[in-house]
Amino acid sequence: MADSIGLYIHVPFCAKKCLYCDFTSYAGVLDKQYVYKDAIIKEMGMRANIIGNKHISTLFIGGGTPSIVDTTVINAIIDEVYKNFHVDQNAEVTIEINPGTVSVKNLTDYKSIGINRLSIGLQAWQDELLKAIGRIHTSAEFVNSYNEAREVGFDNINVDLMFGLPQQTIGQWIRTLQAVVSLGPEHISCYDLQIEEGTPMHKMVVGGDIKPLDENTDRLMYKTATALLRSEGYERYEVSNFAKPGFRCRHNLNYWHNGPYVGLGCAAHSHLDHIRWANVSGLQSYIDTILDDNIPIAFEEYIDRDTEMFETMMLGLRTSEGVDKKLFEERFGIRLYQRYGHVIDKLSAMGLMHNDESAVKVSDKGVDVLNSVLVEFLP
Ligand code: SF4
Repeated sequence: MADSIGLYIHVPFCAKKCLYCDFTSYAGVLDKQYVYKDAIIKEMGMRANIIGNKHISTLFIGGGTPSIVDTTVINAIIDEVYKNFHVDQNAEVTIEINPGTVSVKNLTDYKSIGINRLSIGLQAWQDELLKAIGRIHTSAEFVNSYNEAREVGFDNINVDLMFGLPQQTIGQWIRTLQAVVSLGPEHISCYDLQIEEGTPMHKMVVGGDIKPLDENTDRLMYKTATALLRSEGYERYEVSNFAKPGFRCRHNLNYWHNGPYVGLGCAAHSHLDHIRWANVSGLQSYIDTILDDNIPIAFEEYIDRDTEMFETMMLGLRTSEGVDKKLFEERFGIRLYQRYGHVIDKLSAMGLMHNDESAVKVSDKGVDVLNSVLVEFLP
């Protein structure tokens, strides 16, 4: 049987840039959505030689805000995927949506074209916090979109949240978690806000207009989320991701297993057969390159065995399952303990890691200092 891969399709359009956003996304250029769709479909043809002999087990339409583009665009892209590639019958097919940009009509369209998982970007429950970080929606609009999704029959929904926002209090964060939990989504992601250089929010920090949240409150928010969500039946199966049993995101698990994936669209990344590459990130340069019949590649590198082993550890240790010893040995032809025994012993003695019969995992204590744990595995 052919290998399975995850397929990611990037839709880089947004209604307005959020103040903290450093993703490849563009506001005010929605008129380019149709030519972009044509470019994506053309890229599928260019990539047929590498995707054509694989099984697609997960498809993720991410952004940007895929839900602001015309449903016919999403429809056409998914249609082409099914026409050109082998998509597993039970494939997980996710689309990212933002509150206020969907309706019963387009949610129904998504469902009828095979999308079976929604990821909704809420971020915070308090409208004043949403406004302060540049989001365009309110929590009431989120509830409305969420209820419409349920009405249409979506039974696998993720809600994206962020903590560590400037001015955010522990009380506001707990209220956000409680309000979301009360709706009962199958999956909740809790990301720690990173204020990246080049974003408007970074300039506001440098200019003294806002103050980043202090480290202690930020850590307390993370611990609060873990405890609260666990008590409500959500497993923390990855550092930032919580799911009810049976609802882990298969697409992202493939990334954390250092599995093969292909990304289409501007700025999309791929990793397949020991090669990693990235597409050109500019929207117009991506479109122009494709329309000129060139492959829109910006960067490509060969991943040597040592690097691949390290990356497998680095990604796998983010998950609660850890790195499976048998799979590691099958993949690299060397026992995990033989390669990393000295590090595992050291970290286990410090209480940062568990070394079970079948896997090595980071302990709860280790998660608190995850970067220092991962650095130990560097080649
Ligand atoms: S909606 Fe997402 S991708 Fe778009 S600007 Fe905001 S953070 Fe960036």
